[in-house]
Amino acid sequence: MKIRWYSFSLGASCCAFAAIFFLLLNFSHAARAQRLSANVIPSHYLLDFTPDLKAATFNGSEAIDVNIKEPTSAITLNAIELKFQTVEIDVHDGGAQKGSVSFDPEKQQATLTFAKTIPAGDATLKIHFTGILNNELRGFYLSKTDRRSYAVTQFESTDSRRAFPCFDEPAFKATYDISLTIDAGDTAISNSAIASDTPGPGAGKHTLVFGTAPKMSTYLVAFVVGDFQCTSGEQDGVALRVCATPDKVALTPFALDVAKFALHYYDHYFGIHYPLRKLDFIGIPDFEAGAMENFGAITFREPDLLLDPKTAPFRSERNATLAIVHEMAHQWFGDLVTMQWWDNVWLNEGFATWMENKCVAAMHPKWDIPQFVAVDLQRTLNTDAQPTTRAIRARADTPEEIDQMFDTIAYDKGGAVLLMIENYLGEETFRKGVHAYLAAHEYGNATAEDFWNAQTKVSHKPVNKIMESLVAEPGAPILEFGPLVAGQVPVAQSRFFLSPGITPNPRQRWTLPVCFKAGTKKQDCQVLTPSSPSLAVPTAKVFFANAGGMGYYRSAYAPAQYAALVAEMETRLTPEERISLTGDEWAQVRADKAAVGDYLNLVAALSSDPSSDVLSNAVDNVSVIKDDVASTKEERDALAAWIRRTFAPVYARLGNASPREHNVREYLFGILASGGKDANLRAEARGIADQYLADPASVDPTLGQTAVGIAAKNGDSALFDALEKTYETSSDPEVQDFALHELVTFTNPDLLKRAFEYSVSPKVRNQDSAMQFNLALRIPESRDQAWQFIKTHWGQVQAEFTTAMGSYVVAGSGNFCSVEAREDVKNFFAAHPVPATESALRHALEHIDGCIEFRRSQEPNLKKWLAAQGQ
Ligand SMILES: [Zn+2]
Repeated sequence: MKIRWYSFSLGASCCAFAAIFFLLLNFSHAARAQRLSANVIPSHYLLDFTPDLKAATFNGSEAIDVNIKEPTSAITLNAIELKFQTVEIDVHDGGAQKGSVSFDPEKQQATLTFAKTIPAGDATLKIHFTGILNNELRGFYLSKTDRRSYAVTQFESTDSRRAFPCFDEPAFKATYDISLTIDAGDTAISNSAIASDTPGPGAGKHTLVFGTAPKMSTYLVAFVVGDFQCTSGEQDGVALRVCATPDKVALTPFALDVAKFALHYYDHYFGIHYPLRKLDFIGIPDFEAGAMENFGAITFREPDLLLDPKTAPFRSERNATLAIVHEMAHQWFGDLVTMQWWDNVWLNEGFATWMENKCVAAMHPKWDIPQFVAVDLQRTLNTDAQPTTRAIRARADTPEEIDQMFDTIAYDKGGAVLLMIENYLGEETFRKGVHAYLAAHEYGNATAEDFWNAQTKVSHKPVNKIMESLVAEPGAPILEFGPLVAGQVPVAQSRFFLSPGITPNPRQRWTLPVCFKAGTKKQDCQVLTPSSPSLAVPTAKVFFANAGGMGYYRSAYAPAQYAALVAEMETRLTPEERISLTGDEWAQVRADKAAVGDYLNLVAALSSDPSSDVLSNAVDNVSVIKDDVASTKEERDALAAWIRRTFAPVYARLGNASPREHNVREYLFGILASGGKDANLRAEARGIADQYLADPASVDPTLGQTAVGIAAKNGDSALFDALEKTYETSSDPEVQDFALHELVTFTNPDLLKRAFEYSVSPKVRNQDSAMQFNLALRIPESRDQAWQFIKTHWGQVQAEFTTAMGSYVVAGSGNFCSVEAREDVKNFFAAHPVPATESALRHALEHIDGCIEFRRSQEPNLKKWLAAQGQ
């Protein structure tokens, strides 16, 4: 699964350090253990469904082949929101008997009881049932467009049980024969291709029977019904299709090209041919996550699949490309080999996160994906430097706990740990380890230990010790290096906290591969153990402790070492390493070990950097200083003036000769107009915005969307109306998504009010409403009004949530920076609790505390520095 993160920037005017969607485990011990017994093992499901899209219901029947270990008279499986009509068991060496059913809704289980004891051995369970096509974006649900309804599925993590009674745990793998009886004009897509299509039963219907789907976990089953249309292709003998509602089929060729490249790439990388004969990609009009890796039938939120690269900005194209190849990586890593239980979902998601970057870097070398990854790593390290973070390994028993495992730690920290291991072992050794792991567990289940033991065996290096340490210990280490003397650099490690008020536990240490750069070599690596006092380093003028910026740790140096590094960073360090160095210095400022002025001097030293990622990683924090540290208008104006003085000359010198130069120019345009409040560029932005909205093809899309973001700040109702119209009339989901988001970035209070009212109206899909409020809460100019609206319209706002979306609003409330706001947030959610967001609320409150502390410690430094600038 790919969680939907924000893909878009607002010209660096906000959000660089904002609280993003960050869910943490709710360690509620009240929940009852919900695991099924291992006495009944399913091997095959025969499933028939007849959905009624108008009535929003379905009829289903199933036959599950099971093996019973010990004689029993009761069988418990998972079911919720289903009504059972008949239950029967057919013992293969004996007769059939009917059963009765009782439900335990809290455990989401049904127990089938039989009068006669069922002997050990093989049997078939036969159940007729009915269910509802819900509006909750999970299970078997209804998705709607202006024209019609679609019936679609989303089962991860524990929602197959809403569509059919099943043994809904990842280790109960089985094969599937699925058939669907649907309206004559409709088609359906499932994990396997259609094997037969026959009219009836009944007038106006036809029945599609799909080929047998391979052995897989229940959460990977999928079927969608409607008038989807597809563009077809083929790669390495696999039939590929990209499918959409008919109005969007013109936007499907982009994804087909991505899929062709990635299929061939993965066939080679994994050394195992893609296991099915076909792979479909389907854009779904209502979809809670970003995308879902159902085996052979991947489903997507529309903007993550369907776009026109000629009219989409680069960041949208990159996001969609990453989403597509993320889900394709899961076909092997997750679908073919699946985690034994949800506590190891981090390995699934961490692997797919790491792999998506690797695959896209190979597909588009000019996209500078390693720099993008290095920037992401800075965010992850900062999130993990807060006390409410969790260890990668955590228990998850209930559906609510399982869903909350899909967080920054699972995806981004998991991915970062794997990147560090790959860099340490070397690409080919790591690839062989991945192959060995997959080959040993094909069509089965495995644990994280199985993965790192395979890597240890292939590499003959202590991967098991390193990974065990990173998985078990919460937080991120900081390595503090002393001066290089006689071939040794002393190093002390401890857990890093952003908050200077927290003293780390001295016993918390890691086993880490430290890959460093000294002299001209790309890198040397050594394993740092909890008791290592130093690293052996060749004598060199410059020592940089995080070669390639790929290590999952922060670094701090002795003053002379640091000064030497900064002096030579443009010539000796790669862009990824400069991102790492700047990120470490920012972390030192956050922890009150360096002054904010030192950081601003470092940013000035980077002002001519040729990489837009190096620049954005450094300069986005200037916006944080402006929004969070500066408390007066004078300070903010002085910082805006500094931004203009520092970057306007660079902007004036830049041309558009190369794509790289082009990216830097567009980034600086946003920074100068927004953070720098450059009046001329703001006027220019409005002109570009009007032109872009009138005819998107007439303007470079990245520039066009950046310009709209700037223009919206001072935007009038004409611009607001134009965006609303674009959202309502465009058939391009990427453009719709962009236009909708921009509505909450206006600063005019009347227009903001309209934007919030619109967000809770039926015109905005439930998948998007909570995200609108999250975004508004991240923007300093919209924040107060958004919060007032949420409080005074709570009933309406909450009615737009689906189960998982409430956390977006709770997380957004963590962007305030005052004691009063903190109390207000705390009291409001105490009086209006949102289910399953206790930890998200804790994290939000901690984020506010962090901001207050940051301002208190650094505002005097900022004043001093501004005075020294002559401001
Ligand atoms: Zn995923």
